[in-house]
Amino acid sequence: MNLSPPTTEVPEERLIEALREAGLRLTPQRLAICRYLAGSHTHPTPQEIYRALKPEYPSLSLATVYNTLSALVELGAIHALGDAGDDTTHYDADTAPHINLVCVRCHRIFDLPHQAVAELEQEAAEHTGFRIFGARVVYYGLCPDCQRAEAKEP
Ligand SMILES: [Zn+2]
Repeated sequence: MNLSPPTTEVPEERLIEALREAGLRLTPQRLAICRYLAGSHTHPTPQEIYRALKPEYPSLSLATVYNTLSALVELGAIHALGDAGDDTTHYDADTAPHINLVCVRCHRIFDLPHQAVAELEQEAAEHTGFRIFGARVVYYGLCPDCQRAEAKEP
């Protein structure tokens, strides 16, 4: 199975457009958050985004990171994934149907694009009449790296 970063590119323009729709002012800080989300395959947490951007944007506040993320979630532009065993919400800019695999040891989240998830979503929409904004399929376990590390432990 391939657990390498997904090939799906998330255009930052889509995220910026969502912020504009939400009526948020497009400050350099917010644009940088969009760029970071679009370029990240690590399912970042607000703290991670804040730490990564703070050196370049000294006026950035954690509150701006939070309110930008929540605006994007409300518009369905990104998904809030909940925590990865680390009590921190992770965010996913890839809204195409896929499975998230959460490692409960290193707290990384891997993506597995899966046709069945897309079909399930379509079926759910057809059977219920729902217009579906997003879906979250999460499996919890140990990633291959952590299984190897665990096997080496005395
Ligand atoms: Zn792991």
